[in-house]
Amino acid sequence: MQNPCRYRIHLFGYVDDLTVVVEADREWKRRWEEDEDTAQWTRTIISDLEAWVTCPHRRAEYFLTQFLSGQGSFNSYLCRIGKKESDVCDQCQESDTLEHVMFHCPQFADNKLRVETRIGIRITPTNLMVQMIRSKDNWDHIHNWIRKVMIAKEREGRRR
Ligand SMILES: [Zn+2]
Repeated sequence: MQNPCRYRIHLFGYVDDLTVVVEADREWKRRWEEDEDTAQWTRTIISDLEAWVTCPHRRAEYFLTQFLSGQGSFNSYLCRIGKKESDVCDQCQESDTLEHVMFHCPQFADNKLRVETRIGIRITPTNLMVQMIRSKDNWDHIHNWIRKVMIAKEREGRRR
């Protein structure tokens, strides 16, 4: 039996292997869905693991992987790992989490609006996965948005 850490590495790093793991072992899928230790954020985004791993145009990209694991150059994360004293957003005084930056912070509102205009729907953490699976165009638009914001935050982090 595999341990949950290895399973998570599959999920975040080698998603194609995960397809095999999921199909070979439904028991682990059940555990993934029920595992309290698995980041709540990941489960919010990937509400249906099987739909996600069987999506034909899905690709495991670096920034998407970061996005799914809730990591990146965000003050809340940097604060948690001891690299920053405050978790407050430099732009708007809210807690600087990945969700805040992607979905609520005025700093990146234009980026979000652009992708929403392209795919014709308001994106939320709970419908993002479905929109990405819906078509390759949607996938590319949403992936580009995630990538751009993650890169911008990384650059910002290096300047601090
Ligand atoms: Zn903000």
